[in-house]
Amino acid sequence: MAILVLGGAGYIGSHTVLALLQAGHKVVAADNLTTGYRAALPPQVPFYQLDVRNRAALDKLFDVEQIEGVIHFAALSLVGESMQQPLSYYDNNLHGTMVLLQAMQAHNIHNIVFSSSAAVYGEPENVPILETDSANPTNCYGETKLAIEKLLFWTSQASNLRYVALRYFNACGAQPGGQIGEAHQPETHLIPLILQVPLGQRQKLAIYGDDYPTPDGTCIRDYVHVCDLAQAHILALNYLMQGKQSDVFNLGSGQGFSVQQVLDCARQVTGHPIPAEIAPRRPGDPARLVASSAKAIQQLGWQPQFSQLADIIETAWQWHCSHPNGYAEHS
Ligand code: UDP
Repeated sequence: MAILVLGGAGYIGSHTVLALLQAGHKVVAADNLTTGYRAALPPQVPFYQLDVRNRAALDKLFDVEQIEGVIHFAALSLVGESMQQPLSYYDNNLHGTMVLLQAMQAHNIHNIVFSSSAAVYGEPENVPILETDSANPTNCYGETKLAIEKLLFWTSQASNLRYVALRYFNACGAQPGGQIGEAHQPETHLIPLILQVPLGQRQKLAIYGDDYPTPDGTCIRDYVHVCDLAQAHILALNYLMQGKQSDVFNLGSGQGFSVQQVLDCARQVTGHPIPAEIAPRRPGDPARLVASSAKAIQQLGWQPQFSQLADIIETAWQWHCSHPNGYAEHS
């Protein structure tokens, strides 16, 4: 029996495929390759280029492969774009998951680990954020992720579907060794944008606002290593296979770093001065987002390995130095 990783050629998906293989699982990967890269997957992994909204293609996959659980990353995930194209986001993310659940039901596959997001919380009511805090997304991307969580909940009430939804905070870093890593087009995330400066691809970093109510005025986020996220997916799958009940878990490092602190740390790691300038606030950015991951640690047995920001940035730096154009030269 194998695990199907949908969106397996994306950033977190490809790291999870590798972690599953290392843990001895049989893996099948699928991706529509809109934002993912075939080169992010080991060649020996059976790969289906399909869109999660394509029921016939899913049925064919489930007919051919023996799948016992699904890890579902396949989604559009740019906050800004989601505000411009809400229909695409609802179609890809929510409708896509509906089609997937229908296909799973038709093939008696009951276990799913879903890639949710801290974006479901919106402006936090408490920090650190608990799973029981209210979820009021402030953007369309977060709305689609919350809608999918509710779809999973109601489907699980009415059938034998069981799910774990993992709400990630700021995923970052890369597989140590530099074979796979983060490659977004366009890039919007802080750490890869900072590293573009020492790579000679960008002149300076724009710091989006220095007048937030934080110690240095810049926004605070919870940066969690992609390999730690990958491990959490395996633990969530094991949790479901043990027959435990459907649930939602935060995944963060529990530590908050400001944009200025991340920048200073990257200057140390790279040995480059990385010039920066203050730019206007980015609309919709909360001042401070930090997770409590106590529930995942207690109930899933999650033990994040990357507690030092410098180590996280170091792995990202290795990847970007060895792949300055991402997967472009390989795909
Ligand atoms: N940020 C910044 N300059 C950039 C990109 C991001 O100052 O060029 C800030 C952004 O405002 C946020 C933090 O860095 O406070 C993390 O942003 P990112 O887009 O990486 O993740 P998000 O928290 O939005 O999911």
